[in-house]
Amino acid sequence: MTNRIMVGMAGLLLAVIVQAQSGISIKSTEVVPGLYMLEGEGGFAGGNMGLMVGNDGTVLIDDGIEPVAPILLDAIEQHTGRNIDFVINTHVHGDHIGANKALHLSGATVVAHDNLRKRLIEKGWDTPAGTRPASKEELPEVTFSDSMTFHLNDHEAYVFHLVKAHTDGDSAIHFRDIDVIHAGDIFFNGLFPFIDLDSGGSVAGYQAAQQRIINMAGPDTIIIPGHGPLSNREELQVALDMLTDAEARVKALVDAGQSEDEVVASNPLQIYHNDWNWSFITTERMTRTLYRSLSSQ
Ligand SMILES: [Zn+2]
Repeated sequence: MTNRIMVGMAGLLLAVIVQAQSGISIKSTEVVPGLYMLEGEGGFAGGNMGLMVGNDGTVLIDDGIEPVAPILLDAIEQHTGRNIDFVINTHVHGDHIGANKALHLSGATVVAHDNLRKRLIEKGWDTPAGTRPASKEELPEVTFSDSMTFHLNDHEAYVFHLVKAHTDGDSAIHFRDIDVIHAGDIFFNGLFPFIDLDSGGSVAGYQAAQQRIINMAGPDTIIIPGHGPLSNREELQVALDMLTDAEARVKALVDAGQSEDEVVASNPLQIYHNDWNWSFITTERMTRTLYRSLSSQ
């Protein structure tokens, strides 16, 4: 295993830890002093992570996909010189909680919304080969129902639940004093959002969650999205406006009596295709999600 660290680029602390075997590395971007966004480079490592570093303890927000866990732990070790004390899982998807076990075993306490733990126990842990029961180390051992606040490193990190949004166990984190929000998958920046109707998510809840974060933010707030580049309130507003208009376009066809396949054939989201379509949530999949949501109301 070869690790290389490069420090200092365009005013950012940029640490790139290269893992020779997989080609995936973890890139770290300083958001504000003591707070970093971590993301995969050279391959998919999972959703964007947040890392708070300081004398009182280290807090990691989300922890990527399971196969990248050793690379992530190495990168954190290189970056901070210490282990993670707390992990916050923003929601139950495997690209955000994959290193829970590895982090638990390294001494971290995993924190999440009640419904995330409940869903992992009831539905199990997703693997490429199917679902298996979640092990004790994969489950958060501290859960909350509405909100909780971390007081570490002279920062206040307000962790709050967003009801029936991306899933039924979503959290976002507002670092109030430094004006940074980690939105989890309530925000796919520049990408059609995944709204997981089968895991308790809803289009209305997703829109309400985005609106709540917009209301919390100011013009200078930095927002870490679950996926896509580092962002801000203006871009989140653009995403919400797109989703609201996309829903209205599908609704017009549902109201006209079109079936799901007829709506897809009509391609009401065509105007958004070039800017928002991506491999996971294609224009067709976004259309079907909106159809399903509207026809179940
Ligand atoms: Zn997700």
